Amino acid sequence: MRRISTLLAAGICAGALCLQAPAQAAPDMSLTRLDCGTPPPPTAVNERFSDTFSYGDLKIQFVFSCYLIKHGDQYLLWDTGHSMTAPNVAPKVSIVDQLKQIGVTPEQINFVGISHYHADHTGQVASFPKATLLIGLGDWNAITAPKPAAGVNYAPFEGWIKGDNKVEPQPNDKDVFGDGSVIMLATPGHTPGHHSLLVKLPQMGAVVLSGDAVHFHENYENNGVPWFNYSRADTLASIDRIKGIVKTFKATLVIQHDARDIDKLPKFPEAAK
Ligand SMILES: [Zn+2]
Repeated sequence: MRRISTLLAAGICAGALCLQAPAQAAPDMSLTRLDCGTPPPPTAVNERFSDTFSYGDLKIQFVFSCYLIKHGDQYLLWDTGHSMTAPNVAPKVSIVDQLKQIGVTPEQINFVGISHYHADHTGQVASFPKATLLIGLGDWNAITAPKPAAGVNYAPFEGWIKGDNKVEPQPNDKDVFGDGSVIMLATPGHTPGHHSLLVKLPQMGAVVLSGDAVHFHENYENNGVPWFNYSRADTLASIDRIKGIVKTFKATLVIQHDARDIDKLPKFPEAAK
């Protein structure tokens, strides 16, 4: 058996064995965290972030995170943070300028993946008009509704709404590069079409970027549901799904808004490989 495997790995085949194509070389992959907003002072979370009022006097240091995923010569930008004009929380450096520091231009971004439609995840999407927009169908429907609901940050999507730019709304999961290495996971509940992102890195292994499926560690550990979520039931089911995926792949969960998770990835401009 070992001999056959060796032959297959070398791309040599005979008879029926020829049906199996030799495996392609794994693409060069990396994951870089970008800073996508100025952190507010520590926030008391008991009332808004637990509909069972579970957190007493707990204060959480929130941060705003975006991520660049390199896959061979292709790029996915995951979330686009606050806009550069957001009061108090605007980023100090735009995503475009951060990308410039690592030698990546906006035109090189093939895909922009959006976890959900809130302003702190969508603020700079318009800087990437050439990218194909990947977003949950439920959130896309909310963005394109005749009268978008409060909290749906539809304005920066104008180019995609008008049809000038390319969008692929996702009703379920999306295998971004077609090889299973980067998968948008349907994790509804915070919003109707909310997604998280699974990234399988060659060296670090699997990483799950939470989106806002959870906002901080205690949400994840105690199944805490913010009262403003779209669906309590879907939120709990999505937290359960993420826990299952983390277990299956022994993944590192990075909670995008939790300052305690920043150190799970290398500090910009370094990238996880
Ligand atoms: Zn958020």
